[in-house]
Amino acid sequence: MLANMGFMGLIVQKFGGTSVANAEKIHRAARRAIRAKMDGHQVVLVVSAMGRTTDDLLRLAGEVSSHPPRREMDMLLTTGEQISIALMAMAINEAEHKAISLTGSQLGLVTDSAHTKARIQRINQERLMAELNDGNIVIVAGFQGTDPAGEITTLGRGASDTTAAALASVLGAAICEIYTDVDGIYTADPRIVPGASKMDQISYDEMLEMAGAGAGVMHSRAIEFAKRYDVPIHVRSSLTDTAGTMIMAETPGMEDISVRGVTLKEDLAVVTLTGVPNRAGIASEIFAEIARHHVLIDDISQTIYEDGRIANISFSTTTAYLPEAQLACDAVETKLGIAGVEIDEGASKVSAVGVGMRSHCGVAAALFEALSAAGINIETISTSEIVIGCIVRKEDGHRALQVAHDAFDLGEPSSP
Ligand code: ASP
Ligand code: MG
Repeated sequence: MLANMGFMGLIVQKFGGTSVANAEKIHRAARRAIRAKMDGHQVVLVVSAMGRTTDDLLRLAGEVSSHPPRREMDMLLTTGEQISIALMAMAINEAEHKAISLTGSQLGLVTDSAHTKARIQRINQERLMAELNDGNIVIVAGFQGTDPAGEITTLGRGASDTTAAALASVLGAAICEIYTDVDGIYTADPRIVPGASKMDQISYDEMLEMAGAGAGVMHSRAIEFAKRYDVPIHVRSSLTDTAGTMIMAETPGMEDISVRGVTLKEDLAVVTLTGVPNRAGIASEIFAEIARHHVLIDDISQTIYEDGRIANISFSTTTAYLPEAQLACDAVETKLGIAGVEIDEGASKVSAVGVGMRSHCGVAAALFEALSAAGINIETISTSEIVIGCIVRKEDGHRALQVAHDAFDLGEPSSP
């Protein structure tokens, strides 16, 4: 009998906050999990906190304290997911199916000790497999774990995706389904580019680059897990049965399209160190100081003048890092004899991403041409194997995204 049931392997389904925002939505998600179970899968559910719960908890903390200790932040924020897993287990029980909820600590999801931004170290499979083999749908609290000392940690905002992808990876799941309030990954942010189209598929590398270049769709670390273990991620709507977007290993056909999508990174600042003595080791001293201040850098560029004796060195970073960046620059300015530090807070970056760039010529030219035709000045250009990025004025950002999208014909095939 068992052999005829066509066991179809393990799947992980993750439901984001909007997909479990109320009782009705919880029931809907529960029905989806039950359907997968009845199709013959073993099912692990990962859920986020309901609706805006995490934001509400953050606000509450802010009302009580101007500097809430990070440990207590984690203690507070993890309660949001604990509510959802309990309710989800109840909903599945209500439908007469077996389910059990597990917190990060019950599951044995071990992280480092970096409260509010911890990284997963290992996941204990024993409890989880035992519950699955007992016929349960196992519901895991997203975005939480415990450090080796047993302290409760969280993995950073939006990281329920990462919990799901990590579980799918270690359990060797056939697929990781991410249910959300959009129906997939779009060729550009549809709120800015109304004609953007849903992609059927995108490679892990393209998705990583798009996430890094500003597409706020998925937590980057989730994609890193999926890539490392080659577990395809299906991003899809929790409201319909329509297929969404597959994030998957690259296929030969993917290179046929030169650009898969375009992104806009807003709130960038460009910091320029002017009149830098151009000698060996200077960049290393500058960027070591910046790293000591934990500033994440986007791009770096350097121009040389006065017969090579002097350089201007610029780097871009999100405006959130500016206070630390400023401190780092002040520290090197006098020490290294740098003439000045200029900060420009009004930058945005438009990027085109696609594995097809490896084999297509003229992609950069097409992007520059489109921006130029729209009268948009490019301030800095950066490239990697599958990305071309242009820094533009913040006020030109939305238009730059639109014209870049048009330049590569990324809209719906039916639209002109
Ligand atoms: N609830 C957490 C957040 O809002 C984790 C998640 O939703 O992925 O960031
Ligand atoms: Mg989310």
